[in-house]
Formats: sequence, C-alpha cells, structure tokens
Amino acid sequence: MTRIERTRPRRFFIETWGCQMNELDSQRMAGQLMQQGILPTREPAEADIILLNSCSVREKAEQKVYSRLGEYRLLKKNRGELLIGLCGCVAQQEGERALDRVPDLDFVLGPARVGELQDVVARRRAGERVVATGFPEERQYDIDAVSRHGEYKGMVTIIEGCNKNCTFCIVPQTRGPERSRPLADVLREVRHLVDYGFQEIELLGQTVNHWREPEGSADFADLLDQVARIPGVQRLRFVTSYPRDFTPRMVEQVGAHANICPYLHLPVQSGSDSVLRRMGRGYTVDGYLDLVDQLRRARPDLALSTDLIVGFPGETADDFERTLELVREVRFSVIYAFKYSPRPGTAAPRLDGAVDPEVASERLQRLFDLQEGIQREINESLVGKDLDVIVTGWGKRPGTQTGRSTCHRIIHFEAGSEPIALGSVTRVRVEKALSYHLTGQRLAVPAAALN
Ligand code: SAM
Repeated sequence: MTRIERTRPRRFFIETWGCQMNELDSQRMAGQLMQQGILPTREPAEADIILLNSCSVREKAEQKVYSRLGEYRLLKKNRGELLIGLCGCVAQQEGERALDRVPDLDFVLGPARVGELQDVVARRRAGERVVATGFPEERQYDIDAVSRHGEYKGMVTIIEGCNKNCTFCIVPQTRGPERSRPLADVLREVRHLVDYGFQEIELLGQTVNHWREPEGSADFADLLDQVARIPGVQRLRFVTSYPRDFTPRMVEQVGAHANICPYLHLPVQSGSDSVLRRMGRGYTVDGYLDLVDQLRRARPDLALSTDLIVGFPGETADDFERTLELVREVRFSVIYAFKYSPRPGTAAPRLDGAVDPEVASERLQRLFDLQEGIQREINESLVGKDLDVIVTGWGKRPGTQTGRSTCHRIIHFEAGSEPIALGSVTRVRVEKALSYHLTGQRLAVPAAALN
C-alpha cells in the first residue's frame, strides 16, 4: 500500500429517493459523518460508506432500492472495508428481512433513528449487523450536525410521522405516529438558518398543518405567524398540508404575511367523493373547493399544486371524469399524479374493484395531457412579468442559471456578466413559457429592493 493511499480521507456517498423529509434526513446523515471527518463523494466507487435513503410510497420506488443494493454490493468485492446501509422508509418497512435478503448489507436504519447513524456505524465496525428501526420517545436531533452545503433553502422538520391512516398510504407505518417538535426548538433552528444566510425556509411534515405545541395550546397558525415574523426570513414555505386540517386562522396567516410564498401544495388525491371516502381522506370535493376559494380570497396570487392517484380500487370511469373536472376547475400550477400501487399493511388492497393497469395508465396519461395544457396557459400568463427568483443552481449552457420564483415555478435565466450565489434572490423578467418551466433575463435590481 502506498503512503498516499494510507492517508486518503474516508468518504461517503448517499443516494436519496422520495420526499423532502428524506432529503433532510440525508443532510442530517451527511452532517454526522462530516463531523467525524468523513467527506462526501459523488462517486460510489470511491466511497467507504454508501447509504441508500429509500422511499416505499409506491412499489416501484422500493424495487429500485433493492436493484441499487444489488449494484453496490458488487463494489464490496474490491473494497472489503466498504459499509452499505439501507436507510429511510424501506429500512423501517423491511427491518431484519432486508439483512436476510441482501447478505452484503451492513445495517438498516429507519427514518426515526437517523440521529443514531454514528453509533450504528461504530457498532458495525465492531462486528454487529445492526437493525435500528422503530420510533423511540427520545428524539436525537442535533441542528449543528446537518450538512446544508450546496442547498439553496433551509428545511426544518416541525412534525414527524402521520396519524391519518389513509387506506392507500404506508407512511404511518414507516414514519410512525405524529410527534410535534416544541415551538421554541423550531424557532431556534429557523434563527440558526437565517444567521447562516438562508433566505428561504421550508417547514416540513407529512401533515405539516397538524402541528401542535406538545405541552401547550398553540397550533400551526401560531407557529406560522411566529416563524414569519423572524427578521431575515425572506421566503417561507411549508409542505405537506392536509386539506382537512387547514383552519380559517391558518388561511388568515397565509394572507397576512408577504414573506409566506404564494404557493401551496394541497394533495386532493381524487375528484370523486366516493373515492375520497374509500381512501379515508375525511373531506369532500366541495370541502376542498371551498378551502381553495378561501385561500385564493386571502391570497389572490396563490399558486396551488396537488397530488392525485388514479386507478384506486373501485374508481369508475365516472369517478375519473370527476377528477378531470376538479383539475379543470382548480387550475393547479403543478400536479403530481400516480397510478395506485398496493402497499403492504394498508387497507386499500382489500377493497373490491381493482382497476385494470392498462386502464389506469390510460387515465394517468389523459390527466397529464389535460394538465400540460393548463400549465402552459398559466405559465404563458407570466410572460413579461418580473419575478423574484431564488437561485437553485447552474443552467446547462454557460452563463445561465436556474431558480425558483416565489410561486415555485422553475425559471432558467441569463445570469449576465456576474453569476449569483446559490440561495441568493434576484429579479428575472420572464420571456418565454413552456409547460414545465420559464425562461428569462436577470434584471439589475439592487439587493435592498428585493423582498
Ligand atoms: N402526507 C401527504 C398526504 O397524503 O396528504 C403525502 C404523503 S405521500 C409521501 C406523497 C403522495 O404519494 C401522496 O399524496 C399520494 O398521492 C402518493 N401515494 C401515497 N401512497 C400511494 C400509493 N399506494 N399508490 C400511489 N400513490 C401513492
């Protein structure tokens, strides 16, 4: 072995699937490893630790993780020291079974145990194949051990887990029961991020608007108000809101604070009351439309996005037409639509009326076609407007950068002679609209004029 090889720093590689909560968990795991002097790499082949932070919301996502584990274990042939860890929702769902299924897997770490990564790695190095899953009462969360390098926004978990038990959804099993973080703890982390230079803060939770002060009476409207008032919070977002939990006081807050971004993700799942009932969502289409109306009255510039499932058991052609009708009526700026995927341990696979997969695919395509036209029209209405854009990265062509408007549109723009740092806010004039993004020119506006 050469001297250079012996002094080479250890490296880690993390692959992340799924929601923002997984993204933040990956930042937390990266931070813990970096505290130990282990550096990130983009190359799995040069890593000493590989972590797969998985999603199990749909079967395909779960299959992808297992096929990737198959690829990475081949790297162990040349590097006996390499550790491979399965993390995230598949880890919680599979536990011990994953170790049986993948002989070269070193450890399994569930989403509620992310704070224990250093300990799990040490135990593995001492010879134990660890399974750390379940939902401990004590939350190990060190806000200084989060690697936010290369991130344009600061994400803050305010509530973990989910109690909704929608009949299609595996999340309550993989992320456990709801646990709200104390308000003081949330405010401390937001201030920390502002001091660190983040202009955009994103509050996270599977049912973010169901946050409650653990030992008090404050609810999400109070939390939103207090976070929005922190000096330096220029852009505030929160995801994912549950329609039934949105109260008039929360709507009021969305209207009251200019730094709350005019963009809201509000999953509806279906436009048919009978499907919503079988999904166990606890609201009706009229209830949802009424909420949209209240929100748009409070905030006329509000852009909405949603999640939709097609081919849910028992979904008829008529039910699906109602979903199309809802999409036409609300005019979402973006939709995330999926074919129903049966998940273990959920109630929906026992329901009658399985939809033929080909019919579900055809419905999904019709939904995307409808949305594409709506999205293009909405985006075209923005041509000629000046948008405040947070820089999220570099464009494909030299001299171009990419960002997100306050209403969450992706915009590629000519950066001018001096490109701007990731996470800074700039103003861009929209010149062209496509269905999935906008293009434009950066305007010379003094930073003080940007909100
Ligand atoms: N907590 C959020 C809610 O339901 O309001 C989102 C949970 S999940 C991480 C994100 C999206 O995945 C859901 O809104 C739903 O549209 C989709 N999804 C969840 N389970 C699914 C399943 N079994 N098949 C297809 N899509 C699913």
